[in-house]
Amino acid sequence: MIRILTNDGIDETGKKMLLDAGFDVITDKVEQASLGEFLDQNQVQVLTVRSATKVDSAVLHSGKHLKLVARGGVGIDNIDSETAGKLGIPVINTPASSSDSVAELVIAGMFSMCRFLYDSNRQMPSKGDTDFNDLKKKYAGGTELKNKTLGIVGLGRIGKSVASRALGLGMKVLAYDPSVSIANISIDIHGAGKLMVPIQTSSLDEVISNCDYLTLHVPGGQIVGENEINKMKKGVCIINTSRGGVVNEKALIEGLNSGKIAHAFLDVFTNEPKPDKALLQHAKISLTPHIGAATKEAQERIGIELAEKIIDHFKN
Ligand code: NAD
Repeated sequence: MIRILTNDGIDETGKKMLLDAGFDVITDKVEQASLGEFLDQNQVQVLTVRSATKVDSAVLHSGKHLKLVARGGVGIDNIDSETAGKLGIPVINTPASSSDSVAELVIAGMFSMCRFLYDSNRQMPSKGDTDFNDLKKKYAGGTELKNKTLGIVGLGRIGKSVASRALGLGMKVLAYDPSVSIANISIDIHGAGKLMVPIQTSSLDEVISNCDYLTLHVPGGQIVGENEINKMKKGVCIINTSRGGVVNEKALIEGLNSGKIAHAFLDVFTNEPKPDKALLQHAKISLTPHIGAATKEAQERIGIELAEKIIDHFKN
């Protein structure tokens, strides 16, 4: 029987599929320090993780029975794929399952910024009954998203899903992606079918210098630093749900302090799980703790996709 350790958990539907297919599924959470030893002693052949567990070289070398490492989610930067490759252990992920959830969080972040929701939520509990009228004045002057321009850098799965929602809200969408020249964006209108809207991509400079909101959906690497911020419109809002460092954090804080950037929304940080306090406590940053894919729907889809891929891998 093939033994699987789902170290960062797996949705019940995916777990049932694996059990029904005859796999032995261990759902214990093994601490990082003893993971290698656990894999070896329990003869674990498949290790599934999300983003919390690090599958580093030591873990891979200790898990002598490992035949597959599976990441529930997109980014595999917590897995040493190079070492896995050398040891002949394939690494798989579930890239499509979380796109809609991340896209919805991006839209939530934009609404949070344009109506000061995150700051209002910080102030109302302590001052709502004493300074109501002052707070009312402070949060007046919000703006609508309709007719604003959204710049999307990275027009892959998540970028397209964000584009679809933004178009549905009446935003203008500009996009940059070196591998895409034109993308057909599908807008699902519940009960009334689909509308296809073509988007022709532009240069990075054109996108960053013309948008009111900028959102990044690339695999990693710095896209926005001081130079790029200098080219942006005053009052731009920046959203990063892709990876910490895609927006340089120091340059972001400087841009917010100078007033060039109005607000930022961050779900990801360079130093997770201990992000820089200057970001966490900044009055103009709306924050979430890397929860882009953390919806019930996405986790169920991830569990199903993982189970299907694992079952398929051991089919013969
Ligand atoms: P994807 O592979 O479908 O799309 C990425 C796109 O970025 C590709 O089209 C690629 O051509 C483009 N790209 C690469 N380098 C670029 C560059 N320098 N400039 C512009 N475009 C570039 O990936 P996806 O499924 O859309 O996911 C995007 C990222 O979102 C992932 O890599 C992951 O880091 C992140 N993510 C975050 C969460 C979260 O919880 N916050 C969840 C899922 C994914």
